[in-house]
Amino acid sequence: MNIEEFQKEQKKENFIREYNLIQDDLCYYDNISKTLKGSQITKAKAFNRNKCIQYQGNGMFICKPIKDYNSSVYSMKKEFKEWTCNCQWFMKNRITCSHLQALFLFFKIKAMSNDLTNTCIVQ
Ligand SMILES: [Zn+2]
Repeated sequence: MNIEEFQKEQKKENFIREYNLIQDDLCYYDNISKTLKGSQITKAKAFNRNKCIQYQGNGMFICKPIKDYNSSVYSMKKEFKEWTCNCQWFMKNRITCSHLQALFLFFKIKAMSNDLTNTCIVQ
């Protein structure tokens, strides 16, 4: 394995480590109905199917809304080695929200598809 392959493997491991932060079936805050709803993972998958997660540069990711499902764009970044989101649920509870679940799932998808372009590792 040459140095480039080694670095690629390291990146892949990092992505998978982020993915493993996913927790099962937490509920999420729905901005439209203003209530807590079903499964974060289901919502996280929907965000990924709709390609809502995008890298903005400087370690910042956004989660764009899904039409007829939610309405806000949220930003996520790593602060003091913890991922944070600016949504109401995360700000209030400081626990993983559906947007962060979607981001970790995004990392997993990127790692599995070996497509590490347009993504970044935030130290
Ligand atoms: Zn969030």
